[in-house]
Amino acid sequence: MKKELMELAFKLILKNSNDMIFLKDTNLVYQAVSMPFVKMAGKASADEIIGHTDSEIFSGQQLAKRYETDDHKILTTQKDLFHYVEPITDDNGHPRYGSTSKYLVRNEQNEIIGILGITKDITMEYLARQRYQQEFRYLFDLPEDTYAVCYIDVDDWRIIKQRRQNIAEGTLQACQTVEEICRYAVDSIVNRKNEAVDFYHNFVPAKLRDIYASGRSSLSYEYERRLSDGSTRWVHNEVHFLTDVDSGHLCVMLSVKDINESKQEEQKIINAAKLDQMTRVLNRETAMESIKQVLQHESDRLHVLFMLDIDNFKALNDTLGHQAGDEFLIKLASELKNSFRDSDIVGRIGGDEFFIFLRNVMEMNQIEKKAQDILRIVSDVAKNLQVKLSGSVGISLYPGNGKTLEVLYAKADEALYKAKHSGKNQYIFSKSE
Ligand code: GH3
Ligand code: MG
Repeated sequence: MKKELMELAFKLILKNSNDMIFLKDTNLVYQAVSMPFVKMAGKASADEIIGHTDSEIFSGQQLAKRYETDDHKILTTQKDLFHYVEPITDDNGHPRYGSTSKYLVRNEQNEIIGILGITKDITMEYLARQRYQQEFRYLFDLPEDTYAVCYIDVDDWRIIKQRRQNIAEGTLQACQTVEEICRYAVDSIVNRKNEAVDFYHNFVPAKLRDIYASGRSSLSYEYERRLSDGSTRWVHNEVHFLTDVDSGHLCVMLSVKDINESKQEEQKIINAAKLDQMTRVLNRETAMESIKQVLQHESDRLHVLFMLDIDNFKALNDTLGHQAGDEFLIKLASELKNSFRDSDIVGRIGGDEFFIFLRNVMEMNQIEKKAQDILRIVSDVAKNLQVKLSGSVGISLYPGNGKTLEVLYAKADEALYKAKHSGKNQYIFSKSE
């Protein structure tokens, strides 16, 4: 009764299973097969298989030979085979991949009487895995401009693999633990306010799982990095989250790429946009912005705003031409810039008007001396021209004349207007109210 039940149950499994199940005797002649196996072999019914061997069933003799070799192997070694991947075909003869296990069937006397095989179609998983491994290899290939790649298992909290190479005389240090990587990363970031500092401070399994769970599969940071020789270079740091196909663990892939050259180009463009195209001193917007920053961060100091306008500049244009006018402005801007500290701000407001903002002035008499310097520079630059040029300067003081740039600007402008209307070629201080 029990035997009958087992036989019936086996038949049910053969009839309904999605897997390819087959039973062979020790002569490797098929005794029973499931429907998916029949389809895989390209046959219409089990009868076309039962009673036959692989070489009779499969037209591809190489495939048949491969199956039989495996069978001989387990019969001679008397060891079962577990989950090995092998090529199979679908019902149209297209190649697919199966994961096969083969078990020796023994009778009550423990004699081997057959082989039971179960093959699962794993084509999708197999191809996905192959693709993944190819991508993985690609990531580890280290393109020319990549310093290092590091693969970290978040669940085991260890470094699985890392690779480094020398770029621009620098290599990133090899680290033994994840903590060491983070410390090294944080220490090397030049700007402490860069968000990557925060990221590496919080580089712990729980936080990484949170990021991954929030749906993000990658992050990237750009920062200036200090190399072991003390030099700095801009890098692009990528962080990829992925589930490892082998272990099923959450893993993080870090890569650091050198972007120094492109970053410097970008910086040049940004700097160029901040300058007045003709005179190469700061343009009006940037000068205003820089002055505002100083007023905000050094509000407890004394600062001075000079506003300079050239007297009768139109006369120069009219007599010597517009180009001579341009050359004068360029030379004047460069002389003004050279006459003040780098920390002072020289900018062109527009036309023949300039800002000079003096930071952290210690003595009041220094201001008057600077105003005289400005007027002297104007006449010096105009010295060899046939037209005699002078300048008018309006001066406002922080905080005495005002606490915001808007007020200081208006006051200096007002003083400049007075200087123009009381004969030009002079400087006038704004009166405090
Ligand atoms: P004032 O003494 O009242 O300052 O008169 P001004 O002749 O200097 O004329 P104003 O300051 O009112 O105007 C500046 C003139 O400078 C207007 C324009 O003809 C000329 N100008 C403005 N921008 C440029 C420039 O980029 N190059 C040249 N060559 N001339 C400019
Ligand atoms: Mg003028």
